[in-house]
Amino acid sequence: MRAAAASPTQTERVKPEQANRIADLRADFPALATQVNGKPLAYLDNAASTQRPQAVMDALNRYEVEMHANVHRGVHARSDQATAAFEGARERARAWLNAASAEEIVFTRGATESINLVARCLDKRMGEGSEILLTRMEHHSNIVPWQQLCERTGARIQVAPVLDSGELDLKAFQELLHSGVQLVAVTHVSNAMGVINPVAEICRMARRAGAPVLIDGAQAAGHIPLDAQDLDCDFYALSGHKMYAPTGIGALYARRPWLEELPPFLGGGEMILEVRFEETTYNAPPHRFEAGTPNISGAIALGAAMDYLAGHGLERLAAMERELLEHATERLRGIAGLRIIGTAKPKSAVVSFVMDDIHPHDLGTILDHEGVAIRAGHHCAMPLMERFGLPGTARASFAFYNTHDEIDRLASGIETARRLFR
Ligand code: PMP
Repeated sequence: MRAAAASPTQTERVKPEQANRIADLRADFPALATQVNGKPLAYLDNAASTQRPQAVMDALNRYEVEMHANVHRGVHARSDQATAAFEGARERARAWLNAASAEEIVFTRGATESINLVARCLDKRMGEGSEILLTRMEHHSNIVPWQQLCERTGARIQVAPVLDSGELDLKAFQELLHSGVQLVAVTHVSNAMGVINPVAEICRMARRAGAPVLIDGAQAAGHIPLDAQDLDCDFYALSGHKMYAPTGIGALYARRPWLEELPPFLGGGEMILEVRFEETTYNAPPHRFEAGTPNISGAIALGAAMDYLAGHGLERLAAMERELLEHATERLRGIAGLRIIGTAKPKSAVVSFVMDDIHPHDLGTILDHEGVAIRAGHHCAMPLMERFGLPGTARASFAFYNTHDEIDRLASGIETARRLFR
């Protein structure tokens, strides 16, 4: 049996100037100063959803008070202002992804809708003999829309396996990549394990095989600097609420030729040029894919979140998260009976684990009593759980605003659970 590692406390490990910086950053997030069950909140469920900085909430409020009107109907000043702010947010998303033009950014409700949009619009390209290549670590959002596409078109899903370490089996992936593959859809970062996929290499392999690539970037976009042109992907899906923006907003990057070729997703206002009962003509992209009144305030808040992250330097914030991951891995590895699922490197700041004889939900409940919020369950990745023979795991996921102290509270909460269940 391994003994619990004696770990230095936050103040011993973190230099004073670093502690000040973390304190300053935390002050930007009012939610972090709240209490849960009479204890200060240790929010370690950032892979499920991140908290929002005051700057994002201020941008939302400013828009609601000073600008709100419907967009793209500019016969009055407020509508012009709202349109400029909304399209300004599209430009921020363009810059975030380094897309070639803002027309390549479609606003959606989130990563799920972004993926569904592509899956719905690809029907005409798919048929008997078409294959969609996924990986075993995909979130249900990057599985079910493809299953539905297969039901409609007769296409088939192929699944690249995952190694014991949680790493994608690239050799098997390569073997599955043949001329029948009409699309590769792969997550950038596994939400259930934190493992980062070599997406640039995957795009190169797919390009050689003539297959377009969709990347599910829900877990990456707020943590890893992105460059869609450099990656050379065809589609990239991201989610606002996982990158410090509100829920109900996300984006899809799609290379311009795709947006020119694909049929519309939903029908309605905004996406048309002219409607007659005999025939309707569609608007140009991206508006062709944004039927109805969009989530204007959400898009503006997403732009504000991107500004916030860029202002602090995403690389610098990512380095803070790597350091938290190191500390958490070291602390949790020292707990007897605890097994980490997903040990491959590189990893984002997610630690998924199981404990001998303790159900992840029980662990989650005990930690909640201590004010420590984690996630327990299958993490919408049931095929991955099945791969590891597990019903689910406990998952702690960190953002740059988390502290060593919170991780130490996580570790001592797990120790408490271990004693209770012994
Ligand atoms: N893909 C991954 C990898 C995710 O983690 C999630 C959210 N858990 C999604 C897709 C779905 O994202 P959204 O909530 O924006 O629909």
